[in-house]
Amino acid sequence: MSGYPRIEAYKGRIRDNCTRTVELCRSYGIDVMAVTKGFCAYPEIAKCLVESGVVALADSRIANLKKLQHFDVDKVLLRIPMPSELDEVIEYADLVLVSEIETARVLGQKAKQRGTIQRVMAMVDIGDLREGFWLEEIVPAFGEMLGIKGIEVTGIGTNLSCYGGVIPRRENLGVLVGYAKEIEKRYGVHLDMVSGGNSSSMHLVFDGGIPEGINNLRIGEAILLGRETVFGIERENYHNDTFVLKAEIVEIKEKPSVPIGEIGRDAFGNVPVFTDRGVRKRAIIAVGKQDIQPDTLVPYDKDIIILGGSSDHTILDISDCDKDYSVGDILAFDLTYGGMLGGMTSPYVEKVFVE
Ligand SMILES: *Cc1c(COP(=O)(O)O)cnc(C)c1O
Repeated sequence: MSGYPRIEAYKGRIRDNCTRTVELCRSYGIDVMAVTKGFCAYPEIAKCLVESGVVALADSRIANLKKLQHFDVDKVLLRIPMPSELDEVIEYADLVLVSEIETARVLGQKAKQRGTIQRVMAMVDIGDLREGFWLEEIVPAFGEMLGIKGIEVTGIGTNLSCYGGVIPRRENLGVLVGYAKEIEKRYGVHLDMVSGGNSSSMHLVFDGGIPEGINNLRIGEAILLGRETVFGIERENYHNDTFVLKAEIVEIKEKPSVPIGEIGRDAFGNVPVFTDRGVRKRAIIAVGKQDIQPDTLVPYDKDIIILGGSSDHTILDISDCDKDYSVGDILAFDLTYGGMLGGMTSPYVEKVFVE
């Protein structure tokens, strides 16, 4: 490989973000599980997270958990498992999120056959309409799971701001804590874990409003990109320049801003729309939608306008730039979560880990 396109991952900055998050959460009695799916679970970065004091590494894919086995913290499967992967769950996940009794039952049978106990966390849907037992259905479901041999139900958790965009608040997380108390009372058990969501719950930690009783959060973006994800507030003392995409210019030309000819569908089946801004100076960089969606790139040079792209090309308007770019120049971009995820997962994007 030529070295481009590449993502430079700044380990020290990620470590700083993680240490701050862990220390702040700890002051509220909250353990942090670091979520690794956003960077394809590269062990080079996972190591920084473990060194920062997270209690677990969590990922949505078994393939990623396989890469993390040598770390001496819990490996957690975040996506409720496919029935076809339950043997692997037992092999590679110390803890797994579940929302189906039947899945818990089969996990229990398989764990028993292997002479182990599978730890599970029961998910509750408190309104976002993604995974989980619906509201108070968690209480009888939890009771039923307590009767399944071969599993240990360590607690309950919820997920917000994912499908429904529901904002975590004192009130809705309070509902989760309420279910935990009801379960403890009704079944005479103690829940080790009440997991109050993902990075979107961090705003409640930052402003001191996280309800008592939440003792676990599963955090990806807030650590990786240093961003609070509900209001997009960039926190002081957090680094945002953690993952930087660098790509090479392969063409620079003056061209009109509206194509010539009848407009049909583009390479992705959409009919594009253009604004006529006259003849503009355009650059093409050698990275495309197969790797990173154009709208996930944030150019370092603020005068660059991202026009769009196809599978392998991203097209930029560089007319307003002070710098006189040439073919072969390297452009740098910060990444949104989607950009980081796409780029870190693409085999065509080289990864460089910087101390
Ligand atoms: C991805 C994921 C997270 C982490 O989300 P961030 O917004 O990156 O913090 C937490 N929990 C579950 C279930 C997830 O799928």
